[in-house]
Amino acid sequence: MTLARTLSGHEVAETVYRELRETLSSLPFVPSLRVIRLGEDPASVSYVRLKDKRARELGLLSQVEVFPADTPEEALLGRIEALNQDPEVDGILVQLPLPAHIRTERVLEAISPLKDVDGFHPLNVGKLWSGGEGLFPCTPLGVVHLLKHYGVELRGKEVVVLGRSNIVGKPLAGLLLREDATVTVVHSRTRNLPEVTRRAEVLVVAVGRPHLVRKEWVRPGAIVVDVGVNRVEGKLLGDVHPEVAEVASALTPVPGGVGPMTVAMLMANTVKAALLRRHGAPR
Ligand code: NAP
Repeated sequence: MTLARTLSGHEVAETVYRELRETLSSLPFVPSLRVIRLGEDPASVSYVRLKDKRARELGLLSQVEVFPADTPEEALLGRIEALNQDPEVDGILVQLPLPAHIRTERVLEAISPLKDVDGFHPLNVGKLWSGGEGLFPCTPLGVVHLLKHYGVELRGKEVVVLGRSNIVGKPLAGLLLREDATVTVVHSRTRNLPEVTRRAEVLVVAVGRPHLVRKEWVRPGAIVVDVGVNRVEGKLLGDVHPEVAEVASALTPVPGGVGPMTVAMLMANTVKAALLRRHGAPR
């Protein structure tokens, strides 16, 4: 039995970093990233640490601001506004999830669209769907970049996206449409889920349910991207069962697939934000 080819996010992320280093060496300034974290949620602590480390390794100016979990919403909004006005700051990221007393939507709308390196501001969401230039969410960007790197032609392909979150599923559907894919988005209310996922030539799974997708859900020879990161008894598991490697032609590993691409795209967005703010969006 031949097992699916592994699509390594680590490998592709390295090529992104190489290109970014070249761009950075040609700039007369150093782009800067400011990450805000509230509270001590262990996953957020480790994600923020990783983002800061990668940014520094790449030669960006990176700074993390940590606030107590009970920080009032108005205080957070005030800090964001100060960073919006700060000419030294190119990218602002507020690590999610936020404590329950803070309205995430208000926070995301407060970040200047030109500094919105997570791509969650409604203006950037609109640009994604209207075909304009803007800052788009890192994980979906990472998925598309990874597929393109491995020569996966998306034009006209049947692509099924499992999951419809604002962070992954929906923006990914928008990006895939921009690549001329034929996109179907499925979710927890979809009937006959395995029947629909079996139509996919490219299947992207972002549900947050460990090993939900079994081999019967996958069309033989399909390319499968597993976005899921589930901590189960100290291990990281994807949303795709390992047996899928028996039917897919290519599969991303967890960890080491989409995760490294997400961080690489954050770095790319920071450089892009720095350029957009200085030179404006291309017309
Ligand atoms: P989310 O906001 O919880 O959304 C999950 C989506 O999956 C929802 O649309 C939900 O449907 C759907 N869903 C849940 N259970 C389902 C089921 N049994 N059958 C069909 N659909 C189901 O999650 P998210 O933020 O998109 O994240 C998804 C996964 O990706 C998580 O494991 C997360 O940790 C991971 N992730 C990884 C990265 C990375 O860089 N690698 C980045 C972001 C997220 P409804 O809308 O109907 O509820």
